Amino acid sequence: MLHVDVLIVGAGPAGCMAAIGAAQKGISVLVLDRKSPGFGKERCAGLVPRLLFTELPVSAAGSVIQPVTYMETVYPSKIRYTTYAPGFILNRTAFDNILLQHALSCGVMVWFDVTCHYHDGETVTVLKQSKPLKIKPRIIIAADGPVSYFARHFFPLQRQYILALQYINDLHKPSETYQIFFNQDFYGGYGWCFPAGDIAKIGIGIQTKSGISIKSFLDSNIKRLIREIADLNGLSLKPRQETFGLIPISPPPDSMVFNNIVLAGDAANQTHPITGSGIAQAVTCGYLAGLSVRKTIETGNKSFLSEYDQLWRQRWFPELQRAHLRRQELLQNWHDLETALSTCWVTSKAYYDF
Ligand SMILES: Cc1cc2nc3c(=O)[nH]c(=O)nc-3n(C[C@H](O)[C@H](O)[C@H](O)COP(=O)(O)OP(=O)(O)OC[C@H]3O[C@@H](n4cnc5c(N)ncnc54)[C@H](O)[C@@H]3O)c2cc1C
Repeated sequence: MLHVDVLIVGAGPAGCMAAIGAAQKGISVLVLDRKSPGFGKERCAGLVPRLLFTELPVSAAGSVIQPVTYMETVYPSKIRYTTYAPGFILNRTAFDNILLQHALSCGVMVWFDVTCHYHDGETVTVLKQSKPLKIKPRIIIAADGPVSYFARHFFPLQRQYILALQYINDLHKPSETYQIFFNQDFYGGYGWCFPAGDIAKIGIGIQTKSGISIKSFLDSNIKRLIREIADLNGLSLKPRQETFGLIPISPPPDSMVFNNIVLAGDAANQTHPITGSGIAQAVTCGYLAGLSVRKTIETGNKSFLSEYDQLWRQRWFPELQRAHLRRQELLQNWHDLETALSTCWVTSKAYYDF
């Protein structure tokens, strides 16, 4: 049996930032992830607001593929609106790795290819090279992504998702504009084309509807979208790569804390349910979770865990609450998407009207 002060499950942005927040001399912090760093395809388009970089404890400039300046929203009628919305397109593998290296430099232990398998309320059983190993942590930070084991088993959370398929195609025309495509068929979601140097990330995300074969639906619709925009955007027709991923769209739980388990990032439904963005929330909420856990271990006072509930809410709740409300309105009025977007899409002024 291994004893640690803090066990962090998941080495994505939420887990790495939680580790950075929790790290302190005298506190043992172990991060584990079922994948190896850089293994597998990136399940992310990598768009973040430029301001996020001011909140990072370390420079992540090395993970920027390119800056973007404008968002172009293409409505179902094909009318286009351009908005100043500066951001960066990241290489997510590089970004996560920068945070991970920083966590390591703070004295955190990291194990890869180790899967968290079972938690009996006291000990966590992990599979390390297929062999079970028991860990007894004082506190667990569950940053294990959209299908979080801990969120499913210990929190009364709704789990609805946008299912997203993303292609990576060659891009022959550099651009600083990223595009969002709304279409009646992309129920509860949208299509996107984000320039990333000499490639573009083109995807479609939709909310699950029973009765359709989601993968083939997304696949044929992305191919159609690519054919429509290829000439104008300078895109190749043939993808280099495709990935499939889930984006949580249900509200976060009332409390992120249950006994000694703390949720952060996609595991906690901290994702924005209109845009689908979750990197910024994972970064800031992961860090706040880590800080509160550190104070709890240092003082032995568990009330610092509820401080995390307050702090993350102060930072993100108004924005997410508005987005959940707008999402409800958007779905109710999906039959008249063009009109619904004038109040339910983030670039319209009326979106912020309450
Ligand atoms: C197609 C797509 C495009 C997206 N594009 C954007 C975008 O442009 N901008 C944006 O802000 N957000 C985007 N997102 C959302 C963004 O990817 C997530 O919000 C973000 O990754 C959340 O970080 P996280 O650390 O909470 O979770 P993750 O990044 O999912 O990390 C969780 C980690 O936990 C590990 N794990 C899971 N279960 C276990 C287990 N049992 N044992 C051990 N390890 C485990 C996983 O291997 C993973 O490494 C996109 C998502 C998708 C699917």
